[in-house]
Amino acid sequence: MAQHFPFSAIVGQQEMKLALLITAVDASVGGVMVFGDRGTGKSTAVRGLAALLPKMRAVVGCRYGCDPADEAGACEECRAQLAQDKPRKTHLLPVPVVDLPLGATEDRVVGALDLERVLTQGVKAFEPGLLARAHRGFLYVDEVNLLEDHLVDLLIDVAASGENVVEREGLSVRHPARFVLIGSGNPEEGELRPQLLDRFGLSVEVSTPKDLESRVSVIRRRDEFERDRANFIAHWSKEDQKIQRQIAAARKRLAAVEVPDAFVERAASLCMSLGTDGLRGELTLIRAARATAALHGQMRVTDAHLRQIAVPALRHRLRRSPLDDSGSGVRVARALTELLGA
Ligand SMILES: [Zn+2]
Repeated sequence: MAQHFPFSAIVGQQEMKLALLITAVDASVGGVMVFGDRGTGKSTAVRGLAALLPKMRAVVGCRYGCDPADEAGACEECRAQLAQDKPRKTHLLPVPVVDLPLGATEDRVVGALDLERVLTQGVKAFEPGLLARAHRGFLYVDEVNLLEDHLVDLLIDVAASGENVVEREGLSVRHPARFVLIGSGNPEEGELRPQLLDRFGLSVEVSTPKDLESRVSVIRRRDEFERDRANFIAHWSKEDQKIQRQIAAARKRLAAVEVPDAFVERAASLCMSLGTDGLRGELTLIRAARATAALHGQMRVTDAHLRQIAVPALRHRLRRSPLDDSGSGVRVARALTELLGA
């Protein structure tokens, strides 16, 4: 089994870590776009998080890893078995992190229908793709800005609907595909269209640490990990388990966390002052703040949560301003200070 760099051993990168924890608590917040230079550990954090999440119970033999406890969300094959009341074996699987390589064909991504076998043998021959493998986990797309727009659109659509539908020549196959989409991009290498960017729930920026102390910690930990992975992972396992318990508790608490009207008003004022289009900004602010409160063990969303999540929830939704060339994160932070005070 692959041994991943422990999530808890990642130095700094608070914004990215919080965004990932939020998606682990409430996947409906939507995908995360990670901006940053190469070698800043963008995929390390995703893999580390997936590795610490509790293993998922899945139906043995199901090609999609269906959850036996979720009959409504089962695939066609599992449904047929359920209808026959067949006893089903289950096993535990790690939460998947699937990489979508640049240049992957659409068939590889969505799955391939073998039309010839359908015609000659009359069987629905479907070879599941990467979306099927990502079900219940994470789909990681490095350099999402270099992917064709229609493919990005498709990924976001499937992530939002939780279902992949493949149609060829009047035949169709559908299967569950609920995953959190994580896109990474280097802003210097091509931009993502604003309409696509807006469909990500959160966006974060990662960079190489600027202070000496953090830099030394990053290098030390990386070196220790490379030299003796098993030992390093064992050393951090207590911290990882703490995060695992924090996520489990937050998931339980989430539905009961209260969002006061005053908070919704402030979220709307913030979006209005920044001129964001549509209501996706407000909805993301509310969902992300609710998950953040749940992670902190709190039952009510407050301004403190708004301060924590406003920048990642909004920075990718701002239009360029000809009068203001400061970064969008700076503009969100400024609007936040105007609204809530320093
Ligand atoms: Zn199934």
